[in-house]
Amino acid sequence: MRKSVKLLAAAAAVGLGTFFGGIPLQSQAESISNLKKEQSNIQEKRSGVQSNLNDVQGQINDLKNQQTNVKTEMQRIDLAIGSTTKEIETKTAKINETKAEISKLQDEIKVISERIEKRNLLLKDRIRNYQVTGGAVNYLDVLMGATSFSDFIDRANAVATIMQADQDILKQQEADKKTLEEKEAQVEKDLADLEKLVADLEKMNQQLAEQRAEKDRLLGDLVEQEGEAHEYKMELQEQEQALAAQESAIQKLIKQEQERQKQQQQQQSASSSKSSSNASISVSSGAFTRPTNGPVTSGYGYRTYNNEFHNGVDFGRVTNSDPIVAAADGIVFRSYLSSSYGECVMITSMVNGQLYTTVYAHMVSGSRLVSEGQTVKKGQQIGIKGETGQADGIHLHFELHKGKWEADKRNKINPVGIIPGL
Ligand SMILES: [Zn+2]
Repeated sequence: MRKSVKLLAAAAAVGLGTFFGGIPLQSQAESISNLKKEQSNIQEKRSGVQSNLNDVQGQINDLKNQQTNVKTEMQRIDLAIGSTTKEIETKTAKINETKAEISKLQDEIKVISERIEKRNLLLKDRIRNYQVTGGAVNYLDVLMGATSFSDFIDRANAVATIMQADQDILKQQEADKKTLEEKEAQVEKDLADLEKLVADLEKMNQQLAEQRAEKDRLLGDLVEQEGEAHEYKMELQEQEQALAAQESAIQKLIKQEQERQKQQQQQQSASSSKSSSNASISVSSGAFTRPTNGPVTSGYGYRTYNNEFHNGVDFGRVTNSDPIVAAADGIVFRSYLSSSYGECVMITSMVNGQLYTTVYAHMVSGSRLVSEGQTVKKGQQIGIKGETGQADGIHLHFELHKGKWEADKRNKINPVGIIPGL
């Protein structure tokens, strides 16, 4: 086909000049205004991305502030839990003391009850001794043994005193027992109060622990949201980089196009679209060439096996160092490492007055041969087929976009029928 290009060029040279390199003159004139439209479109897009970036930065700041607030609340709750727990410990110790006191009182009551019991028995004995003779000590004998009336009185008083003393002791013991029992009742009441207090404190602690868990969850959510916002921010920054690079590539295309038209007006065959041919890849003669050798392992379109849309065409490996070439003349606007595309090159091309974008992904690390802003020729090697980024095995993932590259890939098209050999 190179022959026919020459023929056309020759035809142009002899004044038939409606066509140049197969492109109608009119569309060449239009192509610059189209490129300028694309450029202002990109500028608009960039200001949109910039405003999204500002928004997401605001969100990140807001999420950080919320996290600080939640952490402060968590500290407050932790302090409250700490002091409540301490109070529970103190009161529980007090409960144990009180229980010990109660059991001591109960022991004392038991001892005193036994004493009262014994004394009662003793007194019953004595009373029996008043009425029944034959006891070892008989009050009646004591009285009857009086030598005189005054001796009798003395003896009677002595007996009365002894009986009174017995009664007094008994009364005292009963009084002691009553005091102990009253004390026990009071301490039992104290114990009940303490146990109620501890139960309340434990309930409060439970509520605080629930509040703490809720704050934990909230903080987790906020951290996750911040992570997502950061991811989105990085996406936007990558978009902004791609747009900026694309804008300057289009600026270059405009210059090249102006240059070509100037040369064309001078009736010069300026643009020899001779490709720097690559040893192992045959370069097609049209505007596009196949970007690499190797079989098509996955075509463009909907994949039933994973319910996903495949935005490009995959070319499998032939050797471990298959070259990848530019599918058309153009300007490299991205040559970078992407988390998904891996080592990746993006080229913007003007073909017959139409802007196209080609994407070459998963190249071997360090194999990219072109840099951003560089002009490339169709068939010029730009890298080596690899499996960097999100790739299963060595392959070239190739995308064709009719128009500029957009983050949502809205301009993607099926390369079949445009790229030869598919
Ligand atoms: Zn693919």
